[in-house]
Amino acid sequence: MSDVEQTATGDLPGIVVTGASGRMGQMLIRLILESDQARLVGALERTGHDWIGRDIGEAMGGQPAGVQVTDDAVSAIARAQAVIDFTAPAATLGFAELTAQARAVHVIGTTGFEDADLAQLAAAGRHAPIIRAGNMSLGVNLLVGLTRKVAAALGEDWDIEVVEAHHRHKVDAPSGTALMLGEAAAEGRGAALADLRTPAREGITGAREAGTIGFSAIRGGDVVGEHDVIFATEGERVVLRHLATDRAIFARGAIRAALWGQDKGPGEYDMADVLGLN
Ligand code: NAP
Repeated sequence: MSDVEQTATGDLPGIVVTGASGRMGQMLIRLILESDQARLVGALERTGHDWIGRDIGEAMGGQPAGVQVTDDAVSAIARAQAVIDFTAPAATLGFAELTAQARAVHVIGTTGFEDADLAQLAAAGRHAPIIRAGNMSLGVNLLVGLTRKVAAALGEDWDIEVVEAHHRHKVDAPSGTALMLGEAAAEGRGAALADLRTPAREGITGAREAGTIGFSAIRGGDVVGEHDVIFATEGERVVLRHLATDRAIFARGAIRAALWGQDKGPGEYDMADVLGLN
């Protein structure tokens, strides 16, 4: 590589990927290594993982990438302009603190946060940009806007149900995307999801309460992610549907968010901001 090329590559935003061996982690690393807009500067895994110390490219079964997998989050994140994080809530909270200290952009795809976790993320977002979305795809973020509009247009005699399907390894339900869609439907009705959400149904539940929003989750096989928002009334139904067939859509969205965040100030952002949909 020539000096000019090296300088050009060195100027690209440096990205650290957490959960490097995970389904999303590996997809992100592949796409960053192929990208001419970003460079990989770190691949994090938890202490004791058998990839620690190995070249990430080789660990994934490919060519050497020149980046060793590490469990030293402090040093790795200190080198980053952005951290892309699809792990688990407890891990993400720790990475948020380190990323805020490094004044780097934290792109969070992790789902399953409790309210107390979200308060901690908000605190980190006062020091550096956080971009968090339960779904990083363009299609789903468009669907969120459509759901808000349809819910606003149809009255309370239209019942709203969100049905989602995911692969057998997913650990949280409803999915982060289902909750985004539920929130959009509630907003369309001028309410908060917490006030309209129906608990999971089982047994003698009684008749459906008007104006509520229900959720159902299917888990099986290798389903990447499917979401239906069903608006049902007497005699007709409207179904808004998104089908994800390749998790690269989430990884591409996350990399786009990391680049978008480079000139943004501290604060909490979502994919609608990144995609210019707000
Ligand atoms: P996965 O294959 O299980 O990968 C998770 C990775 O995170 C693994 O490498 C895991 O390491 C690591 N990890 C978990 N807990 C950790 C901890 N405490 N410290 C350090 N590393 C930890 O899962 P996935 O399918 O990639 O999904 C990951 C997350 O992204 C989930 O919350 C999922 O819902 C979400 N997701 C979001 C989107 C979106 O668009 N926003 C899209 C897809 C997935 P070990 O293997 O050692 O446990």
